[in-house]
Amino acid sequence: MTYFLSLGSNLGDKRRNLKRAIGHLKKASVRILRASSLYQTQPVGKADQPWFVNQAVEVETDRTPWALLALLQSIEKKMGRTKTIRNGPRLIDLDILLAADTIMDTPDLVIPHPRMAARNFVLVPLCEIAPGVLHPVLGKPAAALLAESCDRSGVHKIGRWSSRSRPSEPQARNRIFL
Ligand code: AMP
Repeated sequence: MTYFLSLGSNLGDKRRNLKRAIGHLKKASVRILRASSLYQTQPVGKADQPWFVNQAVEVETDRTPWALLALLQSIEKKMGRTKTIRNGPRLIDLDILLAADTIMDTPDLVIPHPRMAARNFVLVPLCEIAPGVLHPVLGKPAAALLAESCDRSGVHKIGRWSSRSRPSEPQARNRIFL
């Protein structure tokens, strides 16, 4: 099955954390079909914390959504993520956004991800790789969700894996909207 995942980090070497997470996925035989650029994103909810680096990837795996969630959680643990406060700083955050046209709503797993339509840090990277992918509950493509999003937090493209030109973290007042 094809999935879209969201990757995020705002502690330590954030870009390296995303790269390592993708390495763990590949090692577990998850095929990376498409990967967005990296984006510096303004924290949503809890403002007094470092900006995040976020990325969206499309992957293919035989795993069920439950098995994929278990894998994502094991990668988060292996990478040293400890229990975090809601919307607080985190070394790595791996979420399932979409699982083809699967819809599920359980206490531990909700697909599509319940907050994806309201978050530019998810929608902007997702739209870079799959603007036409359909949200099966809202019945709209990702590009329409972004166009309709009320989220005004900053999202700033910073490129792929290059470590040569690291822009400094933008100040909150210098928001860049895409
Ligand atoms: P977070 O703090 O964002 O990593 O949230 C982790 C919790 O969200 C876990 O307890 C998961 O069981 C739950 N969860 C519900 N739906 C999803 C989803 N689509 N992807 C990842 N975690 C999910």
